Amino acid sequence: MLEEIYAHVLRRNPGEREFHQAVREVLESLPVVVERRPELCDGSLLDRLCEPERQVIFRVPWTDDEGRVHVNRGFRVEFNSALGPYKGGLRFHPTVNLDIVKFLAFEQTFKNALTGMPIGGGKGGSDFDPKGRSDAEVMRFCQSFMTELQRHIGEHTDVPAGDTGVGAREIGYLFGQYRRITNRFEAGVLTGKGVGWGGSHARPEATGYGLVVFTAEMLRVRDLDLDGMRVVVSGSGNVAIHAAEKAAASGATVVACSDSGGYVVDEGGLDLDLLKQVKLTDRARLSAYAEQRGADAEYREGGRVWDVACDVALPCATQNELDEDAARTLIGNGVRAVAEGANMPTTPEAVRALREADVLFAPGKAANAGGVATSALEMQQNASRTLWTFEKTEDRLTEIMKHIHHTCHETAERYGRPGDYVAGANIAGFELVGESMQAQGII
Ligand code: GLU
Repeated sequence: MLEEIYAHVLRRNPGEREFHQAVREVLESLPVVVERRPELCDGSLLDRLCEPERQVIFRVPWTDDEGRVHVNRGFRVEFNSALGPYKGGLRFHPTVNLDIVKFLAFEQTFKNALTGMPIGGGKGGSDFDPKGRSDAEVMRFCQSFMTELQRHIGEHTDVPAGDTGVGAREIGYLFGQYRRITNRFEAGVLTGKGVGWGGSHARPEATGYGLVVFTAEMLRVRDLDLDGMRVVVSGSGNVAIHAAEKAAASGATVVACSDSGGYVVDEGGLDLDLLKQVKLTDRARLSAYAEQRGADAEYREGGRVWDVACDVALPCATQNELDEDAARTLIGNGVRAVAEGANMPTTPEAVRALREADVLFAPGKAANAGGVATSALEMQQNASRTLWTFEKTEDRLTEIMKHIHHTCHETAERYGRPGDYVAGANIAGFELVGESMQAQGII
């Protein structure tokens, strides 16, 4: 039956390779559930689960600083709302297309279920490239994008947030335009807002911090500790930098990170204040970090950050960035754990190689769920018109990440796949979404 459902997905969504990959990875975890809980796994439920509830594609025209008109494409895929309003980020990057948004929305559905918060799954974005654009251009793009998106979203309907290329600046412009068009200060319609106007403390830190909490929990099962370990992260955006910060605070030495141009090795540990300045404030290249850091850091143009030996690898850049070859290099260098900060950064072949070598592996839909979980905490604060302290918010985040780890670990064990966090996350996420879909009838 699962093969038939997968064949149907292939037929209906031709050429959408990332979406196929994400669906396949979930379906591959389900035979044991089909066997034990046939009542939950009837074909109709699985068919419905693999079909988005709604997909919106729209034109986004905008004018650059020279007066030239550009036309981008906007997307919002509202995948599943059995557990709550659609929830998930917006990605602005030239690689964005329907395939990418669909795979992300599908993953998001299970991730959001694992948080235990009342949120469904969605994702959106555009092939707009913010790189090299002025603030005024980014603002005009965001205003045009929201002019269409606003008719599809709402605090009880669909709640977007950030992802690659969408941070506090973009959320600000998007929220401003939404407020202007609707004439409502509807704080709960977007998350990742500034703390002064409805945002939550710890939201920027949440994905990276949560990733490290999950990694530490996973290591603890094997009596290992991050303290004293060498960590490599890929990427140098919001997730990578805050993962590095939390890992360093846990006693690890974060020796390398990367961007699309190359990577930097800093044997004494990355200077995170400088990294934040270069990447988050100046929006500059990593080579600028190496120039300012001086003799301590070595910048390598191109190449692969996974060649740097480490105990823990945290892929925090983008999908399918860690392939089988990279996994074999990591294994050869004695890696103990790989945990995904990005969404689906590890190829299926690489995951297999890591599992066969008995390396701990945490899939993104569990390990990077801290971001969206904290978005749900932001919604909770908006609904009660309060602002929690940083400490209270971080405590809740830590609690949620430990709960997700426990759920994945316990579910894998219960279904006879001990230590398999991929199976644990997929099965637990599926049970939560599937049970709610079943209770709500065929819709
Ligand atoms: N884009 C993030 C993710 O992949 C966060 C989404 C959100 O906060 O809604 O989970």
